[in-house]
Amino acid sequence: MSAERKVVPIQAEPELVPLFEAHKTVYPRTVAGFFQNWRWALVWLTQLAFYGTAWLQWGERQALLFDLQARRFYIFGLVLYPQDFIYLAGLLVISALALFLFTAVAGRLWCGFSCPQTVYTEIFLWIERRIEGDRGARMKLDAAPFSVEKLVKKWFKHVCWGVFALWTGFTFVGYFTPIRELAMSFITTRMGPWEVFWVLFYGLATYGNAGFLREQVCKYMCPYARFQSAMFDRDTLIVSYDAARGEPRGSRPRNADAAARGLGACTDCTLCVQVCPTGIDIRKGLQYECIGCGACADVCDGVMDKMGYARGLVKFTTQQGLAKGWSRAQIWRRVLRPRVLVYAGVLLAISLGLGLSLALRTPFKVDVVRDRGAMARIVAGGAIENVYRLQIMNATEAHQRFAIMASGLPGLVVTSEPEVEVDATASRWVAVRLQVPQQAAAAGGSHPIHFELRMLDGDAHVREKSVFLIPR
Ligand code: SF4
Ligand code: SF4
Repeated sequence: MSAERKVVPIQAEPELVPLFEAHKTVYPRTVAGFFQNWRWALVWLTQLAFYGTAWLQWGERQALLFDLQARRFYIFGLVLYPQDFIYLAGLLVISALALFLFTAVAGRLWCGFSCPQTVYTEIFLWIERRIEGDRGARMKLDAAPFSVEKLVKKWFKHVCWGVFALWTGFTFVGYFTPIRELAMSFITTRMGPWEVFWVLFYGLATYGNAGFLREQVCKYMCPYARFQSAMFDRDTLIVSYDAARGEPRGSRPRNADAAARGLGACTDCTLCVQVCPTGIDIRKGLQYECIGCGACADVCDGVMDKMGYARGLVKFTTQQGLAKGWSRAQIWRRVLRPRVLVYAGVLLAISLGLGLSLALRTPFKVDVVRDRGAMARIVAGGAIENVYRLQIMNATEAHQRFAIMASGLPGLVVTSEPEVEVDATASRWVAVRLQVPQQAAAAGGSHPIHFELRMLDGDAHVREKSVFLIPR
């Protein structure tokens, strides 16, 4: 019996998948159009707010100042203390919910239009274009051998970037140290080492992120790019290429009959790739690198206009809308779906709650601490005395007087100073003595009592719990 031959399947050559992608410089081309106008409007808005607000005054002080050393946040008419941490937590929850809501409605709207990375990259690109020229000129300059012209252009660009980055770092630090004092210390070269460190740190971060890393921050470093797909669904507005209309793509003369040539609307001009700040081709479908800036939609609309075709080959639409050929009204009707309504409802409720709580917030706070060194004792006259330490935080910007009262036991009286004064936005510790006549004293042990402090120039009052000890 002849031995059966074993058939060994021929294995395909294993494919080598590089784990590291070599960086290719992206040279985004200048673009004009509807979305680009919005992007620039937001660049102006955010930057005017950032660079301008730091210089606004509120009475005698800076309107917006996060004074970490004094542990006080000044937000226009509001003074917040570490005890007000809840408001910061509320603000973070609101920001997160707003991001969920905007992502569910229109994808990476934040990334494309308002994220500081996008905004600063846009500004740095603008400087680069003014000095080195548009895409083609920049590519040519980078590929050209060393020359005086290249050196001067590159040097000038980096000086402009550096100055802008340092100004950004300086403004950022100006939200934590009064900016006028900071400017004065800079002029007189008396800036403290920490201030110098943070100005340089934030300046360098701006310079590196907006000048060099650019799209790599969005592609590889930003965590939002990784989890935003969890908030997407088929009714989320995203920038999409209408492949049914565009394919088969191909170049053609301007007045050629595309149908007769068997071509779709895409002229394969690649302008949508050339303007893309992340260097991707939107015609390959939804990609996580897309920041939804709409530059490809703007440039493609221009091409469609020149060719005499209908606009919208690349546009903001939903996956459902594109697949089913929905009109704009049909798409927008689907945008208000349950997920969006839930996000919007929760966001509204938390925002209202936070606003209300801020509006009703008492303008002072009180902490009561029992004086451990002085337990209950019997004083001259036979009364029982307990001593407490009260921390009174005056959150107003005026000097205030407070009346101190106590209740909870028969005959309980304040025998220390019944009124105290606290400076504007200051806190003060005061020792308070309470006495109960021995004959009126309740049984020995610990008895709940309340301190009540009233602001004498106003009707604000605070009630705080404590205990009164009576010796057994
Ligand atoms: S810009 Fe429009 S026409 Fe040109 S390649 Fe891109 S999708 Fe096609
Ligand atoms: S694909 Fe279009 S929308 Fe997405 S990042 Fe590139 S230019 Fe912007």
